[in-house]
Amino acid sequence: MLETQNYDDVLQIRMSRAFNGQPLYWVAAYLVDGLLIDSGCQHTAQELLDFLSDHHVEQIVNTHYHEDHIAGNWLLHQQRQLPMYAHRDSLPLMRQVPTLYPYQEIVWGYPQPVEAQELGSVITTSQYTFDVLHTPGHCSGHVVLIEKQKGWCFSGDLFISERPKVLRPEENVHEIMASLQYLLSSAPEKFTLFTSMGQILPQGRQAVANLLSYLQSVTQQIIELHHSGHSIDDIRQRIFGGESRMAEVTNGQFSVNNLINSAITDGNL
Ligand SMILES: [Zn+2]
Repeated sequence: MLETQNYDDVLQIRMSRAFNGQPLYWVAAYLVDGLLIDSGCQHTAQELLDFLSDHHVEQIVNTHYHEDHIAGNWLLHQQRQLPMYAHRDSLPLMRQVPTLYPYQEIVWGYPQPVEAQELGSVITTSQYTFDVLHTPGHCSGHVVLIEKQKGWCFSGDLFISERPKVLRPEENVHEIMASLQYLLSSAPEKFTLFTSMGQILPQGRQAVANLLSYLQSVTQQIIELHHSGHSIDDIRQRIFGGESRMAEVTNGQFSVNNLINSAITDGNL
């Protein structure tokens, strides 16, 4: 299923596999002046292709290589010969079929391998110029796009919510914080945040700053407790009140433990 909304010159395209007529999990792509930012998952690839048949699309940029952001590429490239761009660290991962957990297969499916081209430091359309910021942490090869004149920031999966409790095992909370700081220092004073979860936040700077200060606070608490000799289980209970139910549903892929482990081990402590 697919839903759209307009915001200024930006068309948001939210996509989800339908289950008994209900959305399983929304992920958003954006179409701006012929530039498609991300392309959804395999289960919605045909629907996206059909929807875009009467839209002007010239090129695709993927914020990162995850299966819920790139799987529309293959059909769009086959049918419309659209060029695809991503950060160089994402390119080899987009050339192969990923290994997915059962929940990922059900919700998103396997993307077809594609041969994308390396993104430069900017990407332009006929009307707009987007700065490309390398923002690793959620994964390697993740980028954020910023259109400074318009005050638009397309954040991919760098921003999920202001107070996340779970991470994937490959995520690095220290890199995420560095990338959030980089975003804040590069973006105009006022900007609107367009997230992959489908939020459109006109007070984007405040939302990003809130996430950054939350992660700094939580990370500091975790490190202090760790240095005081507390176990992971004890830290999890004290700060977060226990493990998230997401951990069970996702085979431990999204868990509080991953956030705690990243805070302790990824900071070279
Ligand atoms: Zn992702």
